[in-house]
Amino acid sequence: MKTIVMKFGGTSVGSPEAIRSLAAIVRAARDAGDRPAVVVSALSGVTDLLLGAAHAAADGDAGRARETSATLLERHLRTLRDVAPTAEAVRDLISDSLDQFVNLCQAIAVLGEASPRALDAIASLGERMSAPLVAAALEAEGISSLSISTADIILTDSHFLNATPDMEATHERAMARIQPVLAGGGVPVLTGFIGADRRGAITTLGRGGSDYSAAILGVALAADEVWIWTDVNGVMTTDPRIAPDARTIPVLTYREISELAHFGAKVLHPKTIRPVVERGIALWVKNTFAPANPGTRIVLEDEGWVDGGIRAVTAIKAQCVITLEGRGMLGIPGIAARTFAAVARTRTSVSLISQASSEQSICFVVPYPAAQTVVAALEDEFRRELSGDDLDGVTASDPVAIITVVGAGMVHTPGVSGRTFSALGNASVNVVAIAQGGSECGISCVVSAQQADDAVRAIHKLIV
Ligand code: ASP
Ligand code: MG
Repeated sequence: MKTIVMKFGGTSVGSPEAIRSLAAIVRAARDAGDRPAVVVSALSGVTDLLLGAAHAAADGDAGRARETSATLLERHLRTLRDVAPTAEAVRDLISDSLDQFVNLCQAIAVLGEASPRALDAIASLGERMSAPLVAAALEAEGISSLSISTADIILTDSHFLNATPDMEATHERAMARIQPVLAGGGVPVLTGFIGADRRGAITTLGRGGSDYSAAILGVALAADEVWIWTDVNGVMTTDPRIAPDARTIPVLTYREISELAHFGAKVLHPKTIRPVVERGIALWVKNTFAPANPGTRIVLEDEGWVDGGIRAVTAIKAQCVITLEGRGMLGIPGIAARTFAAVARTRTSVSLISQASSEQSICFVVPYPAAQTVVAALEDEFRRELSGDDLDGVTASDPVAIITVVGAGMVHTPGVSGRTFSALGNASVNVVAIAQGGSECGISCVVSAQQADDAVRAIHKLIV
């Protein structure tokens, strides 16, 4: 009998059909003799709507909250009527939550400011409505179920908008509150995304934080497995919109998935995965809408199956190469440190650094919208050197994309980078810069924005 924490994302609870699939998945797990604990996101799009109205209120538009409240009331009640027609208590809870939402937004409008604490109180309402709704749907299907707010389980610091859990306290509370429900044969339905600090103020774990909630609860309950249910067949070899023959990757290591997440693939956040895989808890990514597809299994380290081949390819678009150039560069003390300190002051994150062997230039990649700000900051920092002979100038490229090729151990496998760049050459893709990831499981290169999709398709053909 395994304890399985199952997290269902926004689209997986976003419609009556999705909730019925969820119920079928939970039933199948129970029929197999397992004990599922369910973690849910808000219904798809709800968190965005709630926060959008809060920001509008801060700008003086409190009317938006009333409209949003009406929209959300209609959507939740319609869903509830479909999946659990007799759940009156949940109906009241939903309308009370939305009244609270309007009140909070009115207070924000009066203050003219939305504090992080107020934003978390508002953002949390999506999950505080979806969990009771899903629990009612399970009950309506004859599955004994209890909705539990993780504000009472996950103790966090008071870092609103991006809180960190206290794992020890959370473990104790999970064992005291959730374990007995599982032991009694019930299915706990837990709010994703939220916790509370020591004073009981609601916190959130950051946008998209429900995956993290599932990981925290998996560890806190000493679960055997954590399954992340989403709307795609696990982690894919690439974006199927770019390469229609993209496939599910059956097994992926922690480092590979971290590299993919860093380079723009919409997969699990590394922070989510680490605590789970470190404890040897099996982690799966599965598709609510195709439950028979096995999905992707995430493991800590190579388990013998790693063959050094390419496992996935991804592209981050709308990037810009910034180049600082000058023959006198070698003579300038601390030039790299000053360069990146100046960039950091603009709060821009550098996605890739490429070492030119000539040492007469420094070149790195930033998001395209930040390019002009970064150039201005560098011109400011090196004003003296630029007016002399030491530096020739700072330039920003046209839009580019970073293509990242991921596979554990591939950096040590002879020929992988050769094959990658030959494939790009054969597809007439011009490579602007290359960087080999320090994590030893990825190679990244920069290509023009126009050639990004061709580059992805050319490399994707190498995945076997
Ligand atoms: N509902 C939250 C969000 O949209 C958390 C999540 O979906 O994971 O950010
Ligand atoms: Mg989500």
